[in-house]
Amino acid sequence: MDAPLDPKRTIVELKDLRRLTSDERGAQRVAFTPTWARARAWLREKLESLPLKVHTDAAGNLWATLRGESERSVLIGGHIDSVPNGGWLDGCLNTLAGLECLRRIHAQYRGRPPVTIRLVDWADEEGARFGRSLFGSSACSGTLPLEEARGLVDRDGITLPQALAEHGIIFDRVNDAQQELHHVAAYLELHIEQGPVLLDRDLPLGVVLGTFGVERHTITFHGQAAHSGSTPMNRRRDALLAAAQMSPEIYRIAERHGGVCTIGSCTTEPGIVTSVVERCRITLDQRHLDAPALQRMLADARDASARFAREARVDVAWERLARIDPQPFHNDLITLADEVVRETCGQSHQLPSGPLHDAAEMARAGVPTVMLFVQSLLGISHNALEDTKEEHIELAVGALDRLAERTIAWVKSQTPNGQTPKNSQQSPSDQQ
Ligand SMILES: [Zn+2]
Repeated sequence: MDAPLDPKRTIVELKDLRRLTSDERGAQRVAFTPTWARARAWLREKLESLPLKVHTDAAGNLWATLRGESERSVLIGGHIDSVPNGGWLDGCLNTLAGLECLRRIHAQYRGRPPVTIRLVDWADEEGARFGRSLFGSSACSGTLPLEEARGLVDRDGITLPQALAEHGIIFDRVNDAQQELHHVAAYLELHIEQGPVLLDRDLPLGVVLGTFGVERHTITFHGQAAHSGSTPMNRRRDALLAAAQMSPEIYRIAERHGGVCTIGSCTTEPGIVTSVVERCRITLDQRHLDAPALQRMLADARDASARFAREARVDVAWERLARIDPQPFHNDLITLADEVVRETCGQSHQLPSGPLHDAAEMARAGVPTVMLFVQSLLGISHNALEDTKEEHIELAVGALDRLAERTIAWVKSQTPNGQTPKNSQQSPSDQQ
């Protein structure tokens, strides 16, 4: 069988990309900058050297399509953009591993696999410049809030529509990218874990169950400023006394429900050394894979804040900053991924993803989705220290490739004879 998957080539390409787009502080492939464009041109050249149809969609996502017997397609995704001073693997590992899978599939099926295989390099996953992540994939899934995005401005006062125009993307048309999903039957993504779970378990690979839902609030406790010398302890209405008790409480709440909770900010007023705190404002970020459990975590935090406020004789008010639904991945694909990881390294582990990924947008759009995680050394990412053992990268490329093969068979089994259902429409890439 002519199936030359070469995971070592992926490592060479990752290092080439690092050389091309990093400096001593790390990767500099921030989306819609010249360095990102250089990375994209480099990738495009590789894709165009294969017999693939390559095009950029209305939102700046780069697609490479290997037409199969059926139009139904298996999509492999990644993002070549990085945060400033980023690591050498976040996002681009996914893209380059996907490229290697495409090469193997093309060779094995002599250019005509049973279903269509597509690679997408999403535009601006990180949101590093305009503060909004998942730009390209949310335009594609139809969840990008256009009017909100129109007003985004970078540090130099350049608006998102202006930055897009510099790269040939017309802001008012970005939602046309939704057409790309017409025949997509499954979405796969490999990513570094960016956390320490696999490292702590000494496992190279894991299967991602979905991405966490998020509830993000500010909680403001309001008491009374009073002189620090003349006010007896029993007469104080100390906003910080109530707020501070939230800090250990969220650890108990997270433990009880199995999610994660973070108080990331705390500010006090008047904020001087000689006054009892009148106002204390904290932020609370809560995340869970299970929507009802996330709501229970939120309810517990609300109850606790009311109790602490009562005890300290202060008021408490909540304000929502953000809410994101959990995106559980597809059960069949989780099962396939679990088999593949077991075959690749003897043991599998299933875990949720704390960070959002483009895969969450695909799941949100109703595309059956799953992700693989590969261990991150130090559990660190968004930092030049980010690293993964090369032997683990090789295992990860192999596992993604096996998963792609199983998913091809799974998609084929969904439709008799691998034929496309009658009501599906043509995607723009088919018209080129
Ligand atoms: Zn990433």
